[in-house]
Amino acid sequence: MPNLLNDRPHHECGVFGIYGHPDAAALTALGLHALQHRGQEAAGIVTFDNKHFHAERRMGLVSDTFTKTSVLGRLKGQSAIGHVRYSTTGGTLLRNVQPLFADLALGGFAIAHNGNLTNALSVRLELVKEGAIFQSTSDTETILQLVAKSKKSFTIDRMIDALSQIEGAFALVALTNKELIGVRDPFGIRPLVLGELDGKYILCSETCALDIIGAKFLREIENGEIVVINESGIESIKPFQKINPRPCIFEYIYFSRPDSYLGGLSIYECRKAFGKQLAIESPTDADYVIPVPDSGVPSAIGYAEHAKIPFELGIIRNHYVGRTFIEPQQSIRALSVKLKHNVNRALIDGKKIILIDDSIVRGTTSTKIIEMLRDAGAKEVHMRITSPPIKFPDFYGIDTPIQEQLLSANNTPDEICDFLKADSISFLSINGLYKAMGHSQGRDSKNPLFTDHCFTGDYPTKLSDNESNEEFSQLSLLSNLE
Ligand code: AMP
Repeated sequence: MPNLLNDRPHHECGVFGIYGHPDAAALTALGLHALQHRGQEAAGIVTFDNKHFHAERRMGLVSDTFTKTSVLGRLKGQSAIGHVRYSTTGGTLLRNVQPLFADLALGGFAIAHNGNLTNALSVRLELVKEGAIFQSTSDTETILQLVAKSKKSFTIDRMIDALSQIEGAFALVALTNKELIGVRDPFGIRPLVLGELDGKYILCSETCALDIIGAKFLREIENGEIVVINESGIESIKPFQKINPRPCIFEYIYFSRPDSYLGGLSIYECRKAFGKQLAIESPTDADYVIPVPDSGVPSAIGYAEHAKIPFELGIIRNHYVGRTFIEPQQSIRALSVKLKHNVNRALIDGKKIILIDDSIVRGTTSTKIIEMLRDAGAKEVHMRITSPPIKFPDFYGIDTPIQEQLLSANNTPDEICDFLKADSISFLSINGLYKAMGHSQGRDSKNPLFTDHCFTGDYPTKLSDNESNEEFSQLSLLSNLE
């Protein structure tokens, strides 16, 4: 039986924060625009004008709302945080749209979160038993409630108090009437970087959000680090027990934008190197190397370069597919692949193709694209995937489905090849993945440098909600109001 808790709302997201800049709201809107790939369902900004907080949270793309002067004009103040959100299953509710805001004992408090907590429901259950009233179904509200409940005298101590009770992945930005706070969880699973513009500090999920506003990249927030930015400058606090970082390897494979840098590495160069490594591991003869755009493009360039086979755009992507078609339901997903991609017939007829994509999750994309290539007369289609088979679900904020729906969890590569109607299929090896990122020994299983749980099942944190026996009472906490 599927574990129902895996069907709770979880999300991929991007966060942005800026302190003390006269154009805080507009810069945040631009930053969120650069982070749009991390979430397309909703966006929000909260600002503080030294007296009041102002909030705008809307469904839709950043450009749907935050290009309007009427909206930006309402977001007064010199400090702001913002959020883009992609929720998967469960209701897409306006009350879940971040940043969340509450009036706490010490004043207003806004928070925006990228990542997923793995014990949010267990903690929520306890808080509700004690009388807490939750307004959203978002795991982020659990953090807010814990901060609200803490008896510590200063906001930062309340945050530390709250964060020490939660498990999972969290890259956070929070705004109070005194400071902008940034936090990265003890493993640094989701990214958070620090930048500077006109002498003012910025926190954001990816460096591409700094580029768009002409800000300078200063450094990454470290795993387990909290930074407090206020009138006196910036202070770094490391309240948690020091552990080795394990950022999520999937940021490199799919999630981050190729023009971003993470862990000192260019995402684009990493993806090219994955393609090259796959060409070394799984060579095959073909007329063209063709990417599934956009996600397969850098890797296909790397593969083609190494294999000395021409890189061609054999599949054209429609960039104007509406958000409706990014819906998480399987039926709509299947349709959306055809809306999104079309075959460049002139190129394909009678040709042997190496088709490159970064990952297979349910197999929807690959199935449809191979079918289209065959219809267009492809003689052979060799599928090459620049990551290992995804066998385990994610609990840290990436939209992967329950294990039952993961194609590679339940099928061997040969079975997948038959299912996709490909002529051959190869996945990048886990050691090859690490090698391509500069770790010549491959994956050190005693001390892995990344969290690669999707491929290995090696989860760095406890998965308390998933292991809990209180599934149904926990779920009922979320399901009463749609
Ligand atoms: P699927 O069609 O379910 O096999 O999903 C694989 C396709 O979705 C590939 O083209 C990936 O680039 C893309 N993809 C991989 N991971 C994700 C994710 N977490 N969210 C959305 N798309 C993804």
